[in-house]
Amino acid sequence: MGSQNGFIYAHPDDETFLSGCLIRRLADAGEDNVLLLATRGDAGRQGLERAKNRQELAELRELEMRAAAEILGISTIEHLGWPDGQLDEVDFETLVQQIITFIQRHEVENVYTFAEDGGNGHRDHIAISKATTAAVQSGACPSVRKLFYAFSPLLRAQGHQPYILIDTEKQWSVKAAALKAHQTQHVTIGRHFGNLVDFPEERRWEAFVLGWENEFVTL
Ligand SMILES: [Zn+2]
Repeated sequence: MGSQNGFIYAHPDDETFLSGCLIRRLADAGEDNVLLLATRGDAGRQGLERAKNRQELAELRELEMRAAAEILGISTIEHLGWPDGQLDEVDFETLVQQIITFIQRHEVENVYTFAEDGGNGHRDHIAISKATTAAVQSGACPSVRKLFYAFSPLLRAQGHQPYILIDTEKQWSVKAAALKAHQTQHVTIGRHFGNLVDFPEERRWEAFVLGWENEFVTL
């Protein structure tokens, strides 16, 4: 059996933005990918173009997430359902415990999340990064071997080098299809990735830094 990979993010679409091709590649190699999302992504004017209210938007984004998961090869999606945009107001220990429970339930070996700066400084991204690091380092997750942070301006400034570097060009059609599945987010996606037909050269790489490693692996 292949490794268990746990992707822990804030919003539906974070997984595709940062790691769509990585996830597909791991799935193709016979590994299992599970996803934990802290919010349902039910805030923002953008999504509300297509939904009457936050509840309807949450349901829509859950469906979009399922379609993207199918494309990328994610076997399980769990939603914590915290309010989008307010994750830093959630009781920190509660959030950490929920992540621990997720990691334990799926016996996750490799954990992927945002860097400490949240990549783009988004408060939800920062909150999930901090809580995931605390969960992994709590001593309650013995299955975890490695913790990876998505490469970010902070990590670059600190001189870190990527440990995982994926060139997305060959699998661009897969990533584009998963991005397309997140239909309500078309404005943001267009801003980052263009028209999804032409390969976006400036978004070529998916990169992760090794943030932590369990040195006491028992064989
Ligand atoms: Zn996000």
